[in-house]
Amino acid sequence: MGAAWTKTKRPPLALTKENVDDFMQQFDTIVSDCDGVLWTPLRGIPHVKEGLESLRAAGKKILFVTNNSVIPPFRKFERLGFAVQKNEVVYPAIAIGRYLEKIGFKKKAFVLGVEHFKDELRSRGVAVVPDKRTSDLMEEDLGAMLRAIHEDTDIGAVIVDLDVNLTFMDLVKATNHLKRPDCMFLVGATDSFVTFDEGKILLGPGHFIRTLEECSGRKAELIGKPGPMMVSEYLQEIHNLNMDRTIFMGDSLVQDMGVANACGMKKLLVLSGMTQLKDLETCDPELLPDYYIDSIGDLPALLGQRGA
Ligand SMILES: [Mg+2]
Repeated sequence: MGAAWTKTKRPPLALTKENVDDFMQQFDTIVSDCDGVLWTPLRGIPHVKEGLESLRAAGKKILFVTNNSVIPPFRKFERLGFAVQKNEVVYPAIAIGRYLEKIGFKKKAFVLGVEHFKDELRSRGVAVVPDKRTSDLMEEDLGAMLRAIHEDTDIGAVIVDLDVNLTFMDLVKATNHLKRPDCMFLVGATDSFVTFDEGKILLGPGHFIRTLEECSGRKAELIGKPGPMMVSEYLQEIHNLNMDRTIFMGDSLVQDMGVANACGMKKLLVLSGMTQLKDLETCDPELLPDYYIDSIGDLPALLGQRGA
């Protein structure tokens, strides 16, 4: 028995009025996740705008990293009334597009993702296949399925993210492209589940990525969290971050505390999303945060900026 943190140097600290000054002195930049921290898919989280403003008022730089390439977060920031610059936000479609641009990728990319994800890649000059969604049903015949698999040596990458219209044949075709060792295998979000409002569960792309890894015998290159690339390459290059003076704030133990570990950042867990305090008792001790707070909306009061 015993909590996971008994195996670590110190337990996660609840952020309080007593320790908030010490906390604030430990970082210049805060990198924040979005879903579950700033909003949930169906509703907002109270006082988030004030929480973000309290960090800016204290002179902290705030950057945003999300695994969600389905809907760009910019409209949500607008609705929140919190101004962000385009280069202060990154999600896998942006990071993968920039990566392909940087390496001078000129081949076609076979993409299992939503249309916004593909558009982001197209905007960086990537030729995306399949070019158009088709609603055609596959003939239920092995010969027809085999005839639908076309060897295309011009496909230089299989890229996988959340694809809400994923089909059996997409997985079959991706597996066949991945047979060629020169075809890159890049993945954005790897979340297995997305559980938020009303206890409903959405499947993330993690299950399908594992299927493709098993079927192809390949290991995907992870661009989304908990991989470090969105922070340690994209944001680092643009904003020249000092990881020793950067903290990551998120609601997921695996993705958010994981990316903080991968990049050497301090860790703040918020309990407004997918993790509950009791989960800290059983999680991998490596994923324990340094600090936790119920919601970023509680920050102004802790900092003495709200209420009397
Ligand atoms: Mg989240």
